Amino acid sequence: DPTKVKYHPIDDAFWNRGDKVPYLALARTLEEIEGVSARLKIIEILANYFRSVIVLSPEDLLPSVYLCLNKLAPAYEGIELGIAETTLMKAVAQSTGRTVAQIKSDTNATGDLGVVAEQSRSNQRMMFQPAKLTVHSVFSKLKDIAQMSGHAAMSKKVDKIQAMFVACRYSEARFLIRSLAGKLRIGLAEQSVLQALALACATTPPGQLYPPEVISAAKGMSQDTFKAHVDEEALILKTTYCECPNYNMIIPILLEKGIRALPDHCHLTPGIPLKPMLAHPTKGVQDVLHRFENLKFTCEWKYDGERAQIHLAEGGTISIYSRNQEDNTSKYPDIIGRLCKTLGENVTSCILDCEAVAWDKEKQQILPFQVLSTRKRKDASEAEIKVQVCIFMFDLLYLNGKALVREPLTKRRGLLHENFNEVEEEFMFAKSIDISAMEEVQDFLEGSVKGNCEGLMVKTLEEDATYEIAKRSRNWLKLKKDYLEGIGDTLDVVVLGGYLGRGKRAGTYGGFLLACYDRDNEEYQSLCRIGTGFSDEDLQKHTEFFKEHLITQPRPYYRYDSQHEPDHWFDAVQVWEIKCADLSLSPVHRAAIGIVDPVKGISLRFPRFLRIRDDKTVEDATTASQVAELYGSQEQIKNQQGTGKVTE
Ligand code: ATP
Repeated sequence: DPTKVKYHPIDDAFWNRGDKVPYLALARTLEEIEGVSARLKIIEILANYFRSVIVLSPEDLLPSVYLCLNKLAPAYEGIELGIAETTLMKAVAQSTGRTVAQIKSDTNATGDLGVVAEQSRSNQRMMFQPAKLTVHSVFSKLKDIAQMSGHAAMSKKVDKIQAMFVACRYSEARFLIRSLAGKLRIGLAEQSVLQALALACATTPPGQLYPPEVISAAKGMSQDTFKAHVDEEALILKTTYCECPNYNMIIPILLEKGIRALPDHCHLTPGIPLKPMLAHPTKGVQDVLHRFENLKFTCEWKYDGERAQIHLAEGGTISIYSRNQEDNTSKYPDIIGRLCKTLGENVTSCILDCEAVAWDKEKQQILPFQVLSTRKRKDASEAEIKVQVCIFMFDLLYLNGKALVREPLTKRRGLLHENFNEVEEEFMFAKSIDISAMEEVQDFLEGSVKGNCEGLMVKTLEEDATYEIAKRSRNWLKLKKDYLEGIGDTLDVVVLGGYLGRGKRAGTYGGFLLACYDRDNEEYQSLCRIGTGFSDEDLQKHTEFFKEHLITQPRPYYRYDSQHEPDHWFDAVQVWEIKCADLSLSPVHRAAIGIVDPVKGISLRFPRFLRIRDDKTVEDATTASQVAELYGSQEQIKNQQGTGKVTE
């Protein structure tokens, strides 16, 4: 019976039905996950823990999910931990009777304050036994700590941390301290957590309300059918999470009604940001032709600013979200104030997909992205705003109570143009043409470059033209102006370490080790060393920044060759956009190892720094499979040239 996994959710759990889940149960699970690297195994371990929670203490499923993702609330609520390491060291020292200096030197030696905290604890004898920590109590205390502000907040935080810390048993201290520091460092990606949740629900259906036919159907399945059934449910869960990235809404439905009921209850809602659709890179106009040969498509200018998802909820609340679902509402009071001018009179609620671009009022032209990034990020007041912004609207995802994401682009764009007005220099529609002859693409591309844009977005109009939430879709292609000089697209890479500069660059880093992110193995794989594209100021800025993120040992999830060992290792915290001349197989770099070649990785030739991508997290960096794809598409071009076919 494939629904029977070896683990028994009741017998193998060490707490009783109805009890609050001990924090130790979660800590043990995380500990086990930290010890393995195979993704399927990680999912199984986590699913087993979730199964026990679902059966014994379902109300603790929500805090459990948050804690293993090290989140406290949906991204757009902006409630985050990330207590400075020095503060945590002080708290650990004070509650273990050790000195800050001892803690610091141990941390430098092991590279992990969490482990040091754990070891310091086990050396200490207790006068009395404090109440055991529970998942519920830890979660709510962490939330309190994150929300404390104002007078004496720091000392109150330290008090709360100490109170929790003295109650820690075994590895609880390790994970509590890591949570407080803002990173669990066990290589557990959100997609794995969602997969584990789906597996747990399929193997241990929650609650009596779960439709009995689902359970019985699951029982009669073969191993393969059951696996397909889990994958199908996981997909429903993942899709729901994209449309409605809020566990507070998802988990209760999951427990009460089961996964298949999710789409009816958690869907696109103005006020809740969704993950945006993304585009595939292309090598040039020829590539576009090839892909869209018999399809109707449109070309739009690709504006170089910041993505802005503008929501208007019934009742009039307006919010603006970033590419990563962060709440940017307070960054754009100017846009909020003017939105009414663009709304047609029948619009009561909507979600617009747009690009916010810096605008030069005098010269009436688009300004580079760098100018936009000088704007204040939060709590801007309209009076102090110096950089004017123009919004370019390119999609409409929701209108007057109805989601439009399953409609084709022609329809969405039609509704956009019917229901919204252009306001010169403030709200404009993305410039576009529907293509009938290929030469038009080239002309339009040149026009976009003259208009200070990055190139074009080419999109299907009717067939295969829905809005694919959270996907890097082939129905949107990006055609960048620099495809002629390079590989067609820039890469977004993670900085793992720095090489000390010499000569003119003494005192700062002179080069850096960069990596892509391998989603399957949840690791960062070295891609190249970079030393060009930096101004002196850039180097100064990076050196200052990474001072705060030094680690003494590379993380276990960094893959690199000792030949390229940097002088200093950094925590994986920042994404850089870079470009390069081409990609080649490499015996020493590890990017995409095993995909194109069993033992060689891929590395970049002549990489050049372009800019920091603050709007991307390290898990949004270019993935190993994208690197492999870029490499492969380049080979294809070479082959085509070999057979005499024309490419740009
Ligand atoms: P990059 O910005 O480096 O191309 P990315 O991963 O942020 O990478 P892509 O999917 O590659 O995003 O490119 C799409 C981005 O281009 C969107 O996120 C959006 O911010 C921007 N953009 C500008 N103009 C348009 C447009 N007309 N249609 C869609 N996106 C646009």
